[in-house]
Amino acid sequence: MMKNWRGILSLLLAALLLAAVVPPAADGLIPVALAVSQKDIDKLKENKKDLTGEKKDIQNQLSQLKNDKDTAIQRRTLLDQEISITEREIKNTEDQISGYEALLSQTALELEKNEREEAEQYELFCQRARAMEKSGATSYWSVLFKADSFSDLLSRLSDIQAVMNYDQSVLDQLRQLRKEIQEKQAYQEELKSEAEEAKTELEGKKAELDEKRKAADQMVKELQADQEAAELLLREKEKEEARIQQEIKKKEQELAEQMAKAQMNWTATVGGYIWPETRSKRITSPMGGRNTGIKGASTNHKGVDIGGVGTNTNVLATKAGIVTISKRSSSYGEYVVIQHGPGNTTLYAHMSSRAVKEGDVVSQGQVIGVTGSTGISSGPHLHYEITEGGSRVNPLNYLPGYIQAW
Ligand SMILES: [Zn+2]
Repeated sequence: MMKNWRGILSLLLAALLLAAVVPPAADGLIPVALAVSQKDIDKLKENKKDLTGEKKDIQNQLSQLKNDKDTAIQRRTLLDQEISITEREIKNTEDQISGYEALLSQTALELEKNEREEAEQYELFCQRARAMEKSGATSYWSVLFKADSFSDLLSRLSDIQAVMNYDQSVLDQLRQLRKEIQEKQAYQEELKSEAEEAKTELEGKKAELDEKRKAADQMVKELQADQEAAELLLREKEKEEARIQQEIKKKEQELAEQMAKAQMNWTATVGGYIWPETRSKRITSPMGGRNTGIKGASTNHKGVDIGGVGTNTNVLATKAGIVTISKRSSSYGEYVVIQHGPGNTTLYAHMSSRAVKEGDVVSQGQVIGVTGSTGISSGPHLHYEITEGGSRVNPLNYLPGYIQAW
């Protein structure tokens, strides 16, 4: 008989304890100041939608353009824009991933604290149960264990209701704590799977970027191989160079006027440049006249091309100065011009992105962008020009240790 009741009792006890293991306390919530919130990630997701929209718009424009030589430059410019949006998408996805990682480590910390609290509360509960058992009469556990029939058990249960109410509140706290832990664990799982998803997407976007860059370079290569198209490109490039040269002069004048107003001295200097990047010393095209490979069309290269720089090398300001132009051109792609003094400028072209804006004061060696192959370019390289006393000088004079690769 006793044996049976004990059996029922241990079940009851097990049920109570199980319930006890399933709880958490309301004060188990941790007042951790979140460095990253779910809101930040939601905002990134919103931005991503905008990027997708911009990309669709560019793709529409591309599909409306005729696939002929006259529209080659426009198509290439749109391709560059599409590539730059893909780069922003990649940055966005990388930000999302680091957001998830931050949230995950915060959640792990909170969980650890909750679990510690739970263990402490549970230990307190067990101590109390053991103490009650020892003191005999006040222990409802032992009272229950002494029941010799079901009705006896029920009457003993009501006798100890008051004691139970107290323990019940402890159990409720434990139950609440357990609920919070489970919720956090579920959130953790959700975050993990979203981070995984973002990582897969990132891989896809990187492959897409790679493919688009190759397609854009291939397009220019094909155009350069076609005499008529190559001449169009060349004419466009020369027009653009002339336009840019005028703009540089105009900006210099504006700057000189502003400086005069501010009673600032702006002295002419020469030399004193560092390399515009530190990855490669290979010069793939020197300054001066060069055979374009097109019959009857030679061109005058206004600067030097530095090859072997890939699409992720930092471009550096070769001398301190003020950024007077930072924009996109159909032939120079993403380019920057820095004014170092009267008649003294440097120009950096075909970058994949720019890190400075017009009016920025830059120090020597400051990152102004990242190398790329934007504009009329058939592969990653940095086009670099120096102007002193208002005319272009050969940058090779200022590029110690360069390797002739043309
Ligand atoms: Zn060049």
